Amino acid sequence: MKYCTAPVTGPVGRTQVPGLDWAQLGDTLLYWTEDDDAALRERARAAGLALGKPSAQGQCLYVVTQVGRLFQREHPDVPVVVDKGRYLVVALDPERARAVPARQDMCYQMSPLTGETTVFRTVVPARRTPDPAVQDLVKLVDEDGFRANLAALVAHGTRHSLNSGFKAAAEGARDVLRQLGYSASLVPITVGSGSSFNIVAESTGVGAAPRGRVLVTAHIDSINIEGGPSAPAPGADDNGSGAAGLLEMARVFAGTQTEHDLCLLLFGGEEQGLFGSREYVSMLTRTDRDRIRAVINMDMIATLNTTAPTVLLEGADLSQALIDELAAAAATYTSLTVQTSLNPFASDHVPFIDASIPAVLTIEGADRANENVHTGNDKLTHIHFDLALDILRMNVAATAALAGLSRPET
Ligand SMILES: [Zn+2]
Repeated sequence: MKYCTAPVTGPVGRTQVPGLDWAQLGDTLLYWTEDDDAALRERARAAGLALGKPSAQGQCLYVVTQVGRLFQREHPDVPVVVDKGRYLVVALDPERARAVPARQDMCYQMSPLTGETTVFRTVVPARRTPDPAVQDLVKLVDEDGFRANLAALVAHGTRHSLNSGFKAAAEGARDVLRQLGYSASLVPITVGSGSSFNIVAESTGVGAAPRGRVLVTAHIDSINIEGGPSAPAPGADDNGSGAAGLLEMARVFAGTQTEHDLCLLLFGGEEQGLFGSREYVSMLTRTDRDRIRAVINMDMIATLNTTAPTVLLEGADLSQALIDELAAAAATYTSLTVQTSLNPFASDHVPFIDASIPAVLTIEGADRANENVHTGNDKLTHIHFDLALDILRMNVAATAALAGLSRPET
């Protein structure tokens, strides 16, 4: 196997060379061939592509989606062909690749790289004319409230789903939601052989029945993978940021009537394998599922891994319209750079997508990896508030558009 890379914006661009496969990862194009064919090499060279970086005999290319740098930490010897933080292309002997489990818990997944694939890309969404009512809501997003809720979550030391710190954090979040006027409760869930909770909060829309529902979700649990259930797991970014962000969105929408129902969900058991969201989805009736217009999930929204503040919108084909709505909201109401991917992985959007419900993960852009994930070092000191607040502004604007703001007749 021979390969080479080229920048998307370089002189080569997306060249089509018959016999040569390509995949795009952000601003990088990867070209490769399984054949060692002199004529093909010559055609590639004529197109400006210098194939022929050495690759051990019999190796194939695989795309890895990882949380933090967990794949690279476990497999430091596997040659990385393209490194884009959350996404890697690696070269592996197929025999060795088969020994890597298809879905290694919530740490990483690996699958063969197929040709003509866009793993993720940076998009330049069109800016819309701002809607004054939406703009007013977006302006309510406030650092002080977000910071206070995040500090309260981190102060529990760990929010491991099976630890008493989790229950205290869950009760605290429920109380915040109740004080804001939502009906909110803890719903027991099973996590392996133990149990934990989801927090479910609702605000009924004022539109005529049958109304749709818009779900805003985040997991509230944290984990220290090496240390176990009682080790420090401040989880400031993963996922205090998403949970505190959900509480801030709850505050923003508290004084607003929407046409459709708004449901705010904080999941437990995410880090053990999406237990909270899987159980929630499994309890939905067919009618419940059909009523859901959109699921906006937040998981890690507050570490700046890139020079330009960046959000990754990760969904599947069935969530493309929701990705477009979020991208337009980012372009209209924030200064975020937007990346998109259709490889859903390792967060609470996945069970919804598996049930054919349009869901999107909103997550910090991670071209350089976040090394603190799932360790005792995921602390408040690493939080980048401006990035988190801009992702919240995007999510507030998209939620307002999808839930429909109730407007007095004029
Ligand atoms: Zn997470």
